[in-house]
Amino acid sequence: MHREPDIVVIGGGLMGACVAWGLARRNLRVCVLDEGDIALRASRANFALIWVQGKGLGFPAYAAWTKTAAADWPRFAADLESDTGIDVGLDQPGGFTLCLSDRELQASVDALEQLREQSGALAHPYEVLDHAQTKMRLPAIGPDVTGAIYCPLDGHVNSLRLFRALHAALLSRGVDYRAEHAVDTVEPRDGVFIVKGTWGEIRAPKVVLAAGLGNAGLAPMVGLDAPMKASRGQIVVTEKASRFLRYPIVTLRQTDEGGVMIGDSEEANGASLAVDHAISSVMADRAIRMFPLLADLNVVRTWSAFRVMTLDGYPIYDQSQAYPGAFIAMAHSGVTLASRHATILADAIAAGTIPEEVSAFATRRFHVSACA
Ligand SMILES: Cc1cc2nc3c(=O)[nH]c(=O)nc-3n(C[C@H](O)[C@H](O)[C@H](O)COP(=O)(O)OP(=O)(O)OC[C@H]3O[C@@H](n4cnc5c(N)ncnc54)[C@H](O)[C@@H]3O)c2cc1C
Repeated sequence: MHREPDIVVIGGGLMGACVAWGLARRNLRVCVLDEGDIALRASRANFALIWVQGKGLGFPAYAAWTKTAAADWPRFAADLESDTGIDVGLDQPGGFTLCLSDRELQASVDALEQLREQSGALAHPYEVLDHAQTKMRLPAIGPDVTGAIYCPLDGHVNSLRLFRALHAALLSRGVDYRAEHAVDTVEPRDGVFIVKGTWGEIRAPKVVLAAGLGNAGLAPMVGLDAPMKASRGQIVVTEKASRFLRYPIVTLRQTDEGGVMIGDSEEANGASLAVDHAISSVMADRAIRMFPLLADLNVVRTWSAFRVMTLDGYPIYDQSQAYPGAFIAMAHSGVTLASRHATILADAIAAGTIPEEVSAFATRRFHVSACA
């Protein structure tokens, strides 16, 4: 029988698992309440990039947060392996954006220049390469590739192994993980939170809403806000192939197991998870123009998934003003940011105060722009 927890984390996706593991490493008693295996989970459908390139235009704190997240990843992966024995396949050789026209290349360069002006010394490094320079590093590219951007900070990971490692790490740290425990209500009362579902109820002095899309319904119960927009992504996966690609490309990567993932589309669709073959075929066509050898590979899998996408696309980390002790944590790029979620964010939640580098992600930013 578990004792009453110090903290209840609602949601056992990448966000909830990272935060819960981080809290448990600080010797807190943590209970994670999650839905079942067939619940909607961005965490088992993502593209697995640890990506810095181009992130944070118009939001310098996000550019810095992402850059430090990528830098923290080796330590994070090593800590996970030491808790679980699972190697999550981290590889950070740098990443490319491949362009199929001069216009595309120029648009990428313009965006990166703006980002450099905005971020100054904190800007991430990058190189602009023409076709010949790109071919030196990526010999399998086709003639349609006009050039590329390379950023040495980018990388990728085996995302499903990451998810498994996090759950194994929860177990190893004694976290009380409860599947099939969908939360219907969270009730703040006399300094504690009463969390209820059809399974019963549990109380704790702190609660973290890490329920992905489920946060929209839960947040108002504790005086928080989770403004989101619909965003769907589609991914195509090929059979395994001999290694031809050393680096991740923003829309294409060869996994550590040999398969090629092509993706991921960005659609303003929050209604249906049916795969749209018109979109898959555009993705596949561009991928073949980038790497003609892909035309000979069979597609073995394709899926679509909803992103946990906030209204402005940036993370939300916040503590309720009305009910201190209630936190919300949600982000697209939950793979990239995992290293920060398990450390800085978990520390902030444990301490009960949000430090400066995290406070930029509070929801008051939405209210400010609404009044402006
Ligand atoms: C197509 C696609 C590609 C992506 N590519 C990348 C990438 O390359 N790099 C990157 O960094 N990120 C990427 N992401 C984003 C990344 O996958 C997400 O940021 C991350 O998975 C979010 O994790 P989460 O735990 O917040 O949400 P989820 O994975 O959705 O988990 C939420 C959990 O909460 C549970 N839950 C919901 N409601 C309740 C409730 N009421 N009670 C109890 N439990 C509840 C759900 O069952 C689920 O387990 C991608 C996402 C998609 C969809």
